[in-house]
Amino acid sequence: MKKYLLAPGPTPVPSEVLRAISEPMVHHRTPAFKAMVGQAIEGLKYVFQTKNDVLIFASTGTGAMEGAVSNVLNKGEKAVIIRNGKFAERWGEIAEKYGIVPIYVDLPWGTVGQPETIEKLLNKNPDVKAVYTQLTETSTGVVMPVKKLGEIVSKTDALLIIDAISGLGGQEFYMDDWKVDICVAGSQKGLMLPPGHAYAAVSEKAWNKIQTSTQPRYYFDWKLYRKKLATNTDPFTGSVILIKGLLKAIEIIKSEGLDIRFKRYKVLASACRAAVDALGLKMFADTPCDVVTAVKVPEGIDGLALVKKMRVEYGFTIAGGQAGVKGKIFRIAHMGYIERFDIIAVISALEMVLSDLGWEFEWGAGLSAAQKILAEDYK
Ligand SMILES: *Cc1c(COP(=O)(O)O)cnc(C)c1O
Repeated sequence: MKKYLLAPGPTPVPSEVLRAISEPMVHHRTPAFKAMVGQAIEGLKYVFQTKNDVLIFASTGTGAMEGAVSNVLNKGEKAVIIRNGKFAERWGEIAEKYGIVPIYVDLPWGTVGQPETIEKLLNKNPDVKAVYTQLTETSTGVVMPVKKLGEIVSKTDALLIIDAISGLGGQEFYMDDWKVDICVAGSQKGLMLPPGHAYAAVSEKAWNKIQTSTQPRYYFDWKLYRKKLATNTDPFTGSVILIKGLLKAIEIIKSEGLDIRFKRYKVLASACRAAVDALGLKMFADTPCDVVTAVKVPEGIDGLALVKKMRVEYGFTIAGGQAGVKGKIFRIAHMGYIERFDIIAVISALEMVLSDLGWEFEWGAGLSAAQKILAEDYK
């Protein structure tokens, strides 16, 4: 059976990238490798839309999240953490481990809240050093109002720190224009690479705060990486193979163009939403993002069975819900190397599974709604 991967990471890897990562090994202290790192960093700056330093780590995205706490805040310092999903909770878990005093803004999963709440909190607590949130909260499918938050936070001494691990390269995002201070990302989602790379783009305002940080850290000491940036090297063994893949992935992203990509994922998302609606299902997110569509499992349908059937009987790996929404939602990812006919295929399989599970709908309703949008708006 042919396998389709539409989960929110890891995502499919294009064949050009697969070829690049199967090339022979290069030593990481050679001019050839340094040139590759330099080129990769320039490319990442384009993807982040930033002039800031971009650091590359041989870890998954969470390594950069941890670094965005351990390098920035000292024990006892305050941070505002918007908590509305599994990855939002992760910011809180990391902050607590490092003795940060979190001010949680707890929101129901699937919602994004009001930026004005953050503004009021910052006015009331001028000693807050950072605000942490996601660009896209993958566990619920929302997009956060990052641009608005940037306008608010940039007027204060606090830093705006964004986890764009699932959003980067797919969800509209302009780091510098939106006044984001630190943005972290990972390789295995929108960037079409295997897992194993984390990235962090860091503003001057953030570097100034980093100078004052005294938390213990070794491997993820960002100052060390910054120093090595000057010569396009890595403090440790460079992740040679992933750098080769990254160069190819950036080439693909550049040749399409970032803004065209943003528009394309918007269309994929809107096709998914139209299909969901036409099948009589409801969206989970109040402000849906463009890289993953989270759908409520309707009353009377077994959500775990739906996801399992999709994979085992039809070959489609999608995602279920995590933690509190386990069994209650399913998620179709359209980040990275996903195009319109992948959406047609997954909606087709979804209709078959819904029918197996006894959900009543008109055959082809979801497909037809999606196809119409994909035909008209794709270009
Ligand atoms: C996947 C994901 C993470 C975790 O990344 P890892 O690469 O698994 O460490 C964190 N935040 C968001 C928003 C994600 O989608």
